[in-house]
Amino acid sequence: MFENSSNTDLSALGEFGLIDQITAPAKKVQQSTITGVGDDAAVIEAGDRYLLVSSDMLLEGVHFDLSYAPLKHLGYKAVVVNLSDIYAMNGTPRQITVNIGLSSKFSVEAVEEIYAGIYMACDQYQVDLIGGDTTASKAGLVLSVTAMGTVDKDKVAYRKGAKETDLICVTGDLGAAYMGLQVLEREKTVFKGNPEAQPDLEGFDYILERQLKPEAQRGLIEFFKERQIQPTSMIDVSDGLASELLHLCKAGEVGCQVYMQKIPIDHTTAQTADEFNINPLVAAMNGGEDYELLFTVPVTEHEKLQDVPGLHIIGHITENGSGAFMVDDAGNKSQITAQGWNAFAQ
Ligand code: ADP
Ligand code: MG
Repeated sequence: MFENSSNTDLSALGEFGLIDQITAPAKKVQQSTITGVGDDAAVIEAGDRYLLVSSDMLLEGVHFDLSYAPLKHLGYKAVVVNLSDIYAMNGTPRQITVNIGLSSKFSVEAVEEIYAGIYMACDQYQVDLIGGDTTASKAGLVLSVTAMGTVDKDKVAYRKGAKETDLICVTGDLGAAYMGLQVLEREKTVFKGNPEAQPDLEGFDYILERQLKPEAQRGLIEFFKERQIQPTSMIDVSDGLASELLHLCKAGEVGCQVYMQKIPIDHTTAQTADEFNINPLVAAMNGGEDYELLFTVPVTEHEKLQDVPGLHIIGHITENGSGAFMVDDAGNKSQITAQGWNAFAQ
């Protein structure tokens, strides 16, 4: 069917390259489309506010493994990862729609379990489930959520907008979800070798929760309101800090300098990384699925950000063309590269 003399492998472009290529012809014929592709959510004119729309899809065997992901957590996570994109625009999520593809191995009770998680997230984040679609699937479970939110027009935060000397900040800590995944994968391998084996998950609660039942950073948006802070740019950390820093730099046409010692890593993450012979910094920079928020603010806001629990100033924005660098204790600089994921590489 697809016989063509020139077939390019998807992996040659990678996920971002492919998105760029397929969305290049997208036209903007509606005046109400403020921004389309290219940010965490699309921005649409809606009276005195903007409407925000964001969609994400989770596939069995690609994004989750049902041998260790409880169905309820999965439903919860599918919602939360979308809400994270709304918060990343400095918005408030309001509604979601849910599309679900089910293969015959799922029972009614199993689907109810997924929805228990979906409703739990709706409750937690005060959003309404307002529709969706249900279909049969031949490739296991497919869960796709679209989140809608609103933001005051003068409060919207894009990926672009960071200016030279701005402070770079991140919430929470990084790399935990990735290390949680390593633990789950290890226990799965042990179980495969010996089905009698009991999973050894003790002491890993925090990183397992970060992987299986992440939360979105609603608190930051409230904090910005309270302190009257307007971020100059913002993105959520779904693909690892390195990838997101590069997105902010590319979109804002700026460079950045980040201090290695300032990158927040939880002690369980660091301990587990040691155990796995993984550099904790690599988990933080390239792990992904943290769903923290990365943002920039003018340096004049420095005082307002001092000593705020769970908020970390990790570096600053530099002039365009100066590149993206990480600086260690001794002052040595290394270039930030996004190893991230090539979603299409086997
Ligand atoms: P995020 O990691 O925040 O979910 P993505 O990297 O998935 O963002 O997507 C980047 C941008 O590309 C978003 O604006 C998204 O809406 C858009 N996008 C991704 N896939 C497609 C597609 N198949 N068709 C149109 N737009 C897409
Ligand atoms: Mg995002």
